[in-house]
Amino acid sequence: MTAVAGHVRRGCLIGQVRIGGGAPVVVQSMTNTDTADYLATAMQCAELARAGSELVRITVNTPEAAAAVPKIREHLDRMNCDVPLIGDFHYNGHRLLSDEPACAAALAKYRINPGNVGFGRKKDEQFAQMVELACRHDKPVRIGVNWGSLDQDLLARIMDENSRRPQPFDSTEIMRHAMVTSALESAAKAEEVGLAGEKIILSCKVSSVQDLIAIYRELARRADYALHLGLTEAGMGSKGIVASTAALAVLLQEGIGDTIRVSLTPEPGGSRTQEVIVAQEILQTMGLRAFTPMVAACPGCGRTTSTFFQELAGEVQDFVRARMPEWKLHYDGAENMTLAVMGCIVNGPGESKHANIGISLPGTGEAPSAPVYEDGVKTVTLKGDHIAAEFKDIIERYVRRTYKKKLPA
Ligand code: SF4
Repeated sequence: MTAVAGHVRRGCLIGQVRIGGGAPVVVQSMTNTDTADYLATAMQCAELARAGSELVRITVNTPEAAAAVPKIREHLDRMNCDVPLIGDFHYNGHRLLSDEPACAAALAKYRINPGNVGFGRKKDEQFAQMVELACRHDKPVRIGVNWGSLDQDLLARIMDENSRRPQPFDSTEIMRHAMVTSALESAAKAEEVGLAGEKIILSCKVSSVQDLIAIYRELARRADYALHLGLTEAGMGSKGIVASTAALAVLLQEGIGDTIRVSLTPEPGGSRTQEVIVAQEILQTMGLRAFTPMVAACPGCGRTTSTFFQELAGEVQDFVRARMPEWKLHYDGAENMTLAVMGCIVNGPGESKHANIGISLPGTGEAPSAPVYEDGVKTVTLKGDHIAAEFKDIIERYVRRTYKKKLPA
């Protein structure tokens, strides 16, 4: 089977969310709670869903975690949160899924890591058992290869074959080839067991940007399964965001990737939702999807003597993000609105006119007034101590006036 990067790939429904088959790229995330603590896990799933995660993956590592899964689903349903749950299995997934049919039924997709599915002869048996359970429960499967847990038997076989080549490949090429081979051979085995190709999603995660790009290009070229993209162990803070963006942007631009996750390490006590916001921002800044109005803000320079415009830019971004869940219910297209918060007259009016709503704050030596532009036309000049509140009121009124109300279902 061959496929070309960027062409429509096979796809399926995960719960109510369509993956692949030409559907928009889907954002997913993963909890870091102990799944056996069903209340804490349900709360974090709901928090991630509220932030915009369209699928949430939870680890299912023990009988207690498996027993908690139906309770997590019930709890979410009671909160009117229908986000599909994906079970992440390693080593004992075959046993957990067969011992806990309610867990197998409550999950919308199973993630199987072919490198962690068992050892020796048992590996194929246990892999087949998980796939049979997926077929029985009519669930899609992600075959998720990870460099940190690559199937060692397969790697040994490929290295052995390589050593017999007249011109052996180097270790980087071997690693990339082994990742792709593991995913494709596992997908072929899953189809032999009876899982439809449409219900298979592949991923091959590594932590190096260049390796990830090369591997996914190869994967996309060689098969037409839906692809889940993510740079694994991306890291903390700006490093994690930049590395994930660099890798994902190249592939997404080539039409590779049906669902993404940004694997950020949160600061101790930091919110898990940051990975969702970054994933959305990657897709939105690339023009692939719109989730929440984007605020353009200048970086500031010697023409600004106060931090007011930086504070206003942050406040406006927080405001639109907080308002978006309600706007989404009542107004079509509010997520496409563009905003500009600028620091002085040099680029302020020009940039503000290009946005749906822009404000040009006074720089050093300018009169203490802030003209506001709506769809390129100056509508008001704000002054005094309540500029932030008045500007947010203007945004709220603009949304109500501009975006068509959704008809009740
Ligand atoms: S708009 Fe004004 S304050 Fe902002 S970076 Fe440009 S010159 Fe500096």
